[in-house]
Amino acid sequence: MLEGITRFDMNEPPRRQKLRPLIWALCFPDVWAHKNKLTKINMEGVKPPYLLLCNHNAFMDFKVAVKACFPNRANYVVAIDGFIGREGLLRTVGGICKRKFTNDITLIRQLKKVIDNGDIATVYPEARYSLCGTTAVLPESLEKLAKLLKVPVVTLICHGHHVNSPFWNVGDRKVKPTEAEMTCVATAEELQELSHEEVMERIEKAFQYDDFKWQKDRGILVKYRKRAEGLHKVLYQCPNCETEYKMSSSGTTLKCDFCGKHWEMNEDGTLSGSDGVTEFSHIPDWYEWERANVRHEVECGEYSVSLNSVVNALPNAKKFINIGNAKFTHNEKGFTLEGNANGEFYSLNIPVPDAYSVHIEYEYLGKYGDCVDLNTLKDTLYVHPLESDYSVTKIALATEELYNKYWREKKAEKEPE
Ligand SMILES: [Zn+2]
Repeated sequence: MLEGITRFDMNEPPRRQKLRPLIWALCFPDVWAHKNKLTKINMEGVKPPYLLLCNHNAFMDFKVAVKACFPNRANYVVAIDGFIGREGLLRTVGGICKRKFTNDITLIRQLKKVIDNGDIATVYPEARYSLCGTTAVLPESLEKLAKLLKVPVVTLICHGHHVNSPFWNVGDRKVKPTEAEMTCVATAEELQELSHEEVMERIEKAFQYDDFKWQKDRGILVKYRKRAEGLHKVLYQCPNCETEYKMSSSGTTLKCDFCGKHWEMNEDGTLSGSDGVTEFSHIPDWYEWERANVRHEVECGEYSVSLNSVVNALPNAKKFINIGNAKFTHNEKGFTLEGNANGEFYSLNIPVPDAYSVHIEYEYLGKYGDCVDLNTLKDTLYVHPLESDYSVTKIALATEELYNKYWREKKAEKEPE
């Protein structure tokens, strides 16, 4: 597949950040417009180099990170699709390219180089935008990275960026004031003494966030008249009749086209059922209910998805290349993609234990529709299903639940009761 096409150079060492005044000029006005309140905790005496772990809800996260790091230099791990058509610029401002959800040694070496330069190594460990403003799964390799780099571990958790610009319908809903906490969770000395589990616990504790709860607690209202549009991408299953893939949304309303029930999305981010019965007023609770249903399917061995799809490849940062149609399958064997590219059959498999999560997109770039992003160390493939009854959200949830089941069973094999 894709023979003769130049692959992205993943080995290029990170460049020390240039154009800092320009970066500040581009980022600060937005941070000010949202009246961002930044609180620093345990940060006295913490100076670069350090490892900065940030949560990921919207592009604003990057702008707040610039404020939090001011005036120091930083490098940022960015996924390859962020590099399309602007590789030179991204490298100049400190971008390091990675294909999502792949384990690569090169990245660790590059982050080490950033630390050796005396700069801040910024990582978005959730590796994708949060789907409904709550914590996404963190890779277990994070504490190994922290111990290896031997520098303070700092977290930056932003609040309000999901409700301002939700992943399922981006924009600017003028949410203010937004907040952020920058916390040193472990100094270099503490890292030496703490166990791997203790380091991971501290990171996970800092990473607890819930944007819709934050909104409600702060009494922040979103008056935007299309605030529910796109929400059905996340909430794909009706809690009234349990039908999947028949949800739709428009204006401030979410609707099940199968049973006809609808829900109003209120200005404070809560939901109300039109018939007086509100199954879930808190959006993340609905999402977790869907996850529980997917988990049940996975546990029973009933989960399996097979979809005819069109595949766009991203071998380098120039542009997507359509490599034709393929059969996309997702089940206990992991992801399988079988198709013909340039008249030649190919088959790609990513087994369950190799994918703790997966990156998905809704209405990608406004023209390709929803997709699942499959990555190997060499390739990035955007798989766009051509059928109507599917949900990429469900596929993402199933990826995590399949992974959890796999490792739970592996562990049980090792430690018989
Ligand atoms: Zn329904």
